[in-house]
Amino acid sequence: MTLRLYNTLTRKKEDFKPLQGKKVRIYSCGPTVYSYAHIGNFRAYVFMDTLRRALKANGYTLKHVMNITDVGHLESDGDEGEDKMEKAAKKENKDPYEIAAFYTDIFFRDMGRLNIEKPEIIAKATDHIADMLEYVKKIMENGYAYETSKGIYFDISKLDHYPVLSNRNLEEQIAGARVDVDEEKRNPYDFALWIKAPKNHIMKWDSPWGLSYPGWHLECSAMGRKYLGDEFDIHTGGVDHIPTHHENEIAQSKGCTGHIPAKRWMHVEFLQVNSGKMSKSLGNTYTLDNLQEKGIEPLAYKLFCYTAHYRTKLNFTFESANSSQKALNRLRESYLLHSQSKEKVEDKIIAEYKEKFMEAVNDDLNMPLAMGIVWEVARNKQKSEQFAKLLLEFDQVLGLALDKSQEYIEKQEKVELPEEIVTLIEQRKKARENKNWAESDRIRDELKEKGYLVKDTKDGMNIEKE
Ligand code: AMP
Ligand code: ZN
Repeated sequence: MTLRLYNTLTRKKEDFKPLQGKKVRIYSCGPTVYSYAHIGNFRAYVFMDTLRRALKANGYTLKHVMNITDVGHLESDGDEGEDKMEKAAKKENKDPYEIAAFYTDIFFRDMGRLNIEKPEIIAKATDHIADMLEYVKKIMENGYAYETSKGIYFDISKLDHYPVLSNRNLEEQIAGARVDVDEEKRNPYDFALWIKAPKNHIMKWDSPWGLSYPGWHLECSAMGRKYLGDEFDIHTGGVDHIPTHHENEIAQSKGCTGHIPAKRWMHVEFLQVNSGKMSKSLGNTYTLDNLQEKGIEPLAYKLFCYTAHYRTKLNFTFESANSSQKALNRLRESYLLHSQSKEKVEDKIIAEYKEKFMEAVNDDLNMPLAMGIVWEVARNKQKSEQFAKLLLEFDQVLGLALDKSQEYIEKQEKVELPEEIVTLIEQRKKARENKNWAESDRIRDELKEKGYLVKDTKDGMNIEKE
């Protein structure tokens, strides 16, 4: 079965074939560690995880690099504003290195909670300054860059084609652009490779152009080349990277090595909240902790990500995330039920499900379709440990830690309720024992007001957080 992946560069789904045998070399643009990563960012890393797992399920081995940007990412991708790290350091009254270490730790803790596989190589920008300097010097030697009072700029007019990833029409954009263009730039779309540090910039290094620091785009190109060579298989990021960051990575690589670095460029669409943009000013840049406070586990968020194809927008609401939490609980229960049954299923049936699942995954990571097969197996009327085994096989791609279903269910049962709620539940139990239905209903309404839903089942009272 062939794995087909969409390539932003060719705007087509293509059969996947690595440049070297069964080894796949991938570069993923990682986080800028100046703040907590939000669930939008994590959609990008869930996609990265699915890609890794799908490649492995197809028998490939991986050499995967992800960067940690701890310097050089300015507030705007178009070289404007302050360095995000320095700005956060000032705001929190800390050293930028401290800020980077703090948010990097939390980022990897959250990646672990999402059961996202860690790429083989994690490359921190500030550990690679020498490689970056070498890269920018090569671009200068090749005649693709020039110096201004602000730094070293890439001259896009030296390229045959710019842009190549996006459909942008530069002439039209330039005509409609703002007027405050940097007079020293040869072309409006020239971009900074290396930035001369203002006096108060803490992170800076010696260079032929004085104390300075690398630009964000250059960091990814230099680290990608160091670990994966001049040409590798896949480059990933969010759709916001297409018009500037990745376009500029391609330009630089052509200036340095003469090649477009990756054969395939894959981009994940944005997560929206309540059908709109996520933004700090709207107060809707939720973290995994914010979700957890409302009873939504990180893994339920991962399952929620599978409700849309990675190339379509996904709309987050607490209501739909709650449904994903319930679905995850049901999936765990179904897995456990299957695992307790010794009934035999025909091998042919198992093989057919397997094939259908991989067909969906291999069709450009169609996870909504793949989940349809997962549910067919989970909800199968016939219970069998062969189905449980099959679900674990699917989980190699899903990464939902289904093998730990029992543990997760027990953990959830132990979730402590606030004392006030426990008291109300006790009072309601008494009221029901005394057949005081009016009092029982009143307490149920009070619990609802406080955000707890009561359901009376044959096994007793069931409490769910809204
Ligand atoms: P940053 O740390 O800002 O460089 O972003 C890390 C990753 O998250 C990048 O790949 C972005 O493209 C991606 N990203 C940022 N916001 C969203 C969003 N709302 N939905 C999906 N991906 C996002
Ligand atoms: Zn990057």
